[in-house]
Order: sequence, then structure tokens, then C-alpha cells
Amino acid sequence: MTKKFDVIIVGGGHAGCEAAAASARMGAKTLLLTHRIETIGVMSCNPSIGGLGKAHLVREIDALDGVMGRVTDLSGIQFRILNASKGPAVRGSRAQADRELYRKNMIQTLLNYPNLEVLNGSAEEILQDTAENVSGIRTEKGSVISCGAIIITAGTFLRGITHCGSTQKPEGRMGEKPSIGLALSLEKLKFPIKRLKTGTPARLDRNTINWSILEEQKGDSIPAPFSFMTKKITVPQISCHITYTNEKTHQVIRDNLHTSPMFSGQIKSSGPRYCPSIEDKIVRFADKKKHQVFLEPEGLNDPAIYPNGISTSLPEEVQIALIKTIPGLEKAKLFQAGYAIEYDYIDPRILKHTLETKSVSGLFLAGQVNGTTGYEEAAAQGLIAGINAALHTEGSARKFVPDRADGYIGVMIDDLITQGVSDPYRMFTSRAEYRLLLRADNADQRLTPAGISIGCVTSERALSFKEKLRKLKTAQERVQKLSALPFEMNKRGHKINQDGVRRSAHELMRYPKINFKVLKEIWPELADIPAAIAEQIEIDAQYAGYIQRQEADIKAFRRDEALLIPKNLDFNALGSLSTEMRIKLSKFRPETLGAASRIPGVTPAALIALLRYIKRKPKDKKQVA
Ligand code: FAD
Repeated sequence: MTKKFDVIIVGGGHAGCEAAAASARMGAKTLLLTHRIETIGVMSCNPSIGGLGKAHLVREIDALDGVMGRVTDLSGIQFRILNASKGPAVRGSRAQADRELYRKNMIQTLLNYPNLEVLNGSAEEILQDTAENVSGIRTEKGSVISCGAIIITAGTFLRGITHCGSTQKPEGRMGEKPSIGLALSLEKLKFPIKRLKTGTPARLDRNTINWSILEEQKGDSIPAPFSFMTKKITVPQISCHITYTNEKTHQVIRDNLHTSPMFSGQIKSSGPRYCPSIEDKIVRFADKKKHQVFLEPEGLNDPAIYPNGISTSLPEEVQIALIKTIPGLEKAKLFQAGYAIEYDYIDPRILKHTLETKSVSGLFLAGQVNGTTGYEEAAAQGLIAGINAALHTEGSARKFVPDRADGYIGVMIDDLITQGVSDPYRMFTSRAEYRLLLRADNADQRLTPAGISIGCVTSERALSFKEKLRKLKTAQERVQKLSALPFEMNKRGHKINQDGVRRSAHELMRYPKINFKVLKEIWPELADIPAAIAEQIEIDAQYAGYIQRQEADIKAFRRDEALLIPKNLDFNALGSLSTEMRIKLSKFRPETLGAASRIPGVTPAALIALLRYIKRKPKDKKQVA
């Protein structure tokens, strides 16, 4: 069989789904080739989307018309805004998802997507033409499917090995075969391949837990959707519960540490620093008397409970023993034991900002294969790879590369390709320099216009966005027109400077205790302004000074980003660079002066030498510096 597609995506995980949808939205004839269609959108670990930093990624994916936000809104069974009492920049939504609903909704979304074909099959080999561009995929069954670009999103499957106690199995996820041929094919292309590890807890039977003694954790009374397109969450909402480990639990773990593959030497690679296994927590935080365990239902009608916080690869009998020491879980039965997995990833420093590999034209990598962890991180990379792969097959010189000031997506990709990873990379708000501008509430204003102009936003969203901007502008004008004198505000109990200066309602919100709710009490005619729009006006007013400062910082940052380093520059020929700098820059080949400045160890002197070279007239560049 020989088929011709513009773009082939290998793998139907979170990166693959978003890559396939983005490439198809761009108008490319797209194929999603995955081991089994029924495992599309499977959540390998925790049944939840979002959280701090990650929620920003979901909002940005949604702003570019991606699928993750809408599918979460159709499948979420508990929504909560985390950090609700903190500043708007660091708040994050989190949705507990019904695992089955998420999977089914994602499959349904993709099977009905225009320009997208979905096929069962295993990719074994990346094929190239004589000019070393990718030309297609050879499947396990020997079929050749030709294409103009390939996106590999194989997740934890590349030479995956699962560990539970001393038992090791070649698996990409529990019960699923690993990808060996594809890993060998990537190796043949001489990519730097390394190993990482991650793990998951046991799954418990809901009917064997003593819920009556546990602390209940409810969701928000009005669940806030992830997608700018969702009006209301209609899925029934549930509660989660909280329990804690204790000294007895810790003793069981300490007594059996030698049986944990992490401590016996069986697992050699690094795991997620911010999501350690329970045995790792007991060793690293030996003074801590207890660790929190969230008991999260895996679905509305699913009897399985996900005990968030006790990921482990201890032998099953030890897992049973440690779980029984936890209040409420004394009689808990396991549906499935926890396990760890080691897998190949490719050093992301071989990638361009488009996620295309620097050495193989038309080959893109996205998701866990680039050393990240998490569904949201994977999906965000998939989206960028999908858009750029489609542009590549058009033969277009256009690229879609959000930078660090455009969004968390830009921050993550820049971090990956300039710094590489030593343990699985996850997103945090602290990774972004321009947090006050990169908020979840304004993700659409930051990214949708660029999405419309590149062609990845459908007309339905474009219209809805235009309408939102119109409402925002009208509301801003209304708020600017209203004003009050200090004595009028004083009479209402709001203390402001008694300087006789009339201030607009917008300016009044710079006072810490005056928010949009207060404005509505003073001017009831503002009550018809939708909550999301009111929130934005309030944030813009309250943080106006800081926002202006960040805007100035962004201008300076973009000056360096605009300075492109010539693609074929021979760093060894720049006499003003030290040997160490020449080796470093030749290895990572940064695309801009800004990217060069973020490579660890690149000195200010080296940057000045590069800047001088870039600014030279073209004829002088021929002479060696
Ligand atoms: P995956 O979701 O892994 O999807 C890969 C897809 O590619 C699968 O559909 C697979 O069938 C397909 N595929 C692979 N090879 C081929 C091929 N050759 N041909 C065709 N199809 C192929 N994340 C966290 O944030 N926190 C955690 O604590 C955590 N724990 C985890 C524990 C375990 C045991 C596992 C397995 C994962 C864990 N993760 C965790 C990671 C999380 O699942 C991933 O970050 C996320 O799923 C990555 O998405 P992805 O699209 O890159 O890959």
C-alpha cells in the first residue's frame, strides 16, 4: 500500500492528538498513525488536566483552536481554581477528568476532524529521499506511507521498560507493546538518545475505602471552563477526598527500600523532580511525618480511585502493605499495582523552535520524546509541531514560533531547545519572565490573532474572538467614562487621596480595596458586563504600572530575538570566541542572539562577539573575525 499525505503524526497520545488536529486545521492532508485507535487520548497516569503553569498551557492551546480545553470541558468531573487567593498571574485551573469520557470525547473529536485520517498501525522506520528530506514511514507490516513531513510523538513507548519490584517488562505503558523499531530508526539518524523514568500509583477499588472518616474536598461551586468557546460545564460534578501517610507507612517503605527498583540499582535514569515516588519522598524528606494523598475518582461510573501522591514501583505485596497503613484504606483492594517506566527520549537541543530537527528536514518531534512530562506539555508541543509541519509541506517560508513573551508555550520550547533536560521537564509559572502579561485570562488576546493570521484558527472561533474584543472595548470605554471625586468616594466609605482630583472608574481600581464589585455597587449600570470581561478590566487596572514595566522588558528581549545568527555560521572561524565558546555554540547552534544568551555557560564576551558579527555588513562577514 502506498498512500500520500502531507503530514504523518506517529502516536495518538496528547502530543499526537493536538499535532494531528493542528496540521489538519492548517489544511494539510494529515494522517494520525497510532498503535490502537481505542487508546487515543488515554491518560497514562493521573486523570486530570491543568494545575499551576499547566493550565496556562491549556488556555494557550485553546486560544490557537486546539482540542485539549474543549475535550476537558466535556469530560471534567471536578473543576477547581488553584491559588485562587493569589495574584491573577499564578492562578491555575485544574479539572479532574473522567478518564473514559476524556478518551471517548477525544476519539470522537479526531475521527470527525476535516482533513484528518486516523489509522491503526505501528511506525517502524522513518524514510528519507535522496536529498535526506523525510519521505514517509514504513509500518511494522511493511507498508510504506509517503508524506512531506513527519511528527514523532511516541511518548513513553520508545524502548519502554516497566518495573514493579524486580519484575521488568518491555512495555510502552502497562500492557502495551513498546516501540523498538522506531527507536532504532531514530538512533540511525544519529540523534542523541538518553533515558528518563516516570511512575504511577496503584488503582484502588472505591467500594473498599472507608470514606466516612476522610476529609472531603469539593470542587468550585461554579466550574470555570478551560475553553474560551465553552459557555457552561454540564457534566455532573463530584468530590475528592484527602488522607495522609503516617509513621507506619514510612516504616513499611523503609523496611523494603532494597526491593524498590529505584534504590536497588535496577532503574538508573532520573524521574520527575516535582512528582517523586513515595519511596523517594520518604528518603529525601526523612523528617516529614506525613504526606498528603488525594483520593481521586477515575470517573463518574468508574469504581477505580487514583491515590494521587503515592506513585511507586515497590513490589505489589509491599504496595498492599503500605496502603493498608493509611487511614481509610485499611481494607482497600487494588485493581492494578503501581509501576515505573524507563524510556528513551531525544535531547531536545537538536530541535529548532518549530520543533523540526536541525539535521533532518521535515522531521518534527513533540511530547514526552523531547524529555517533558505531562499531558499539557505534550499537547502544547504537538500543536506547534502540527502547525509548522503543515507550513513545511506547503513549501512556505513562514514559521509559527511563539516567543517567551507570547506565552508559556514559547517559554517551554525555548527552555527545551536551549537548555536541554536532565530530568523530566514540567511547566511552572516561575519559568516565565513576563508572568503578569502571560495570564490564563488573556491567552486568547495574546495568541488568537497570530493563530488567525497563520491559519490554524477556524472561522467559528475567529468570530467569537472578534465579538469578545468588541465587548471588551465597549466595556473599557464605559468604565473610562465613569468618574468620581475623592469626597464622593469617601462618602461611600472608600478612602482615597483627598486631593480633589476626579478619577475614572478605571483609575479608581488601582486602589487595593476597589475592585470591579465595588464599581458595580457605585454604578449599578455596570452589572451587565460579563464576569470574564470585568475580570480582565480589573487586572489591567490593578497592575497597570507593573504591566507597563514588563512591556518595556519585552521590547528589550525582542531586540535580541530579532538578531538572527546566520544558519551556516562557522563559529570556529570567529577568532574572538574562546575555544570553549566555539565548541558550545557549534554544538547547540542557537538561531538568535537571544537563544545564544540562554545557553548555560555562554559568556557576555561571547555574546558581544556574536553581536558584532551579526551587525557587520554582509561583505565584511566574508572575512574571518
Ligand atoms: P503518550 O501519551 O505516551 O502517547 C504516545 C502514543 O504514541 C501512544 O498512543 C502510543 O500507542 C503511540 N505510539 C508509540 N510508538 C508508536 C509507533 N511506533 N507507531 C504508532 N504509534 C506509536 N506525567 C505527569 O505529568 N506526571 C506523572 O506523574 C506521570 N506519570 C506517568 C506514569 C506512567 C507509568 C506513564 C506511562 C506516564 C506518566 N506520565 C506522567 C506521563 C504522561 O503520561 C505523559 O507526559 C503524556 O502522556 C505524554 O504524552 P505524549 O503524547 O508525549 O505520549
